[in-house]
Amino acid sequence: MEDCIFCKIVKGEIPSFKVYEDDRVLAFEDINPISKGHTLIIPKKHAENIWELEEDDLIAVQKASKKLAHAIKKSLNPDGIACLQLNGTAVNQVVMHYHFHLIPRSQGEPELT
Ligand code: 5GP
Ligand code: ZN
Repeated sequence: MEDCIFCKIVKGEIPSFKVYEDDRVLAFEDINPISKGHTLIIPKKHAENIWELEEDDLIAVQKASKKLAHAIKKSLNPDGIACLQLNGTAVNQVVMHYHFHLIPRSQGEPELT
């Protein structure tokens, strides 16, 4: 997808702070983090949302989320990690390339909006 920001990140055309990569997925820090360690996991192959995403890419994203949740727990020791994934403008999806948020949270922080 020519105009997709996350496809450009996959191709290295725009910079990102990468934290994990394998043959199917890429994970990088969110540019506007809700909390320290806020990470996005994306399939390298463009899919707009859960309806378009290939099952093997869904599995790869979920496997990466488990690895990264362990790494975040070990490095930042949050009390919890919110896993968030939005599909469609009706639920505020902004970047139209499937992405899975990992958002570390600790007791007493303001609620997610
Ligand atoms: P959503 O589509 O689930 O509402 O959120 C899109 C997320 O992508 C936001 O949290 C936003 O900060 C992040 N984002 C948008 N553009 C970029 C970018 O160019 N680089 C990075 N690292 N994150 C981005
Ligand atoms: Zn894309």
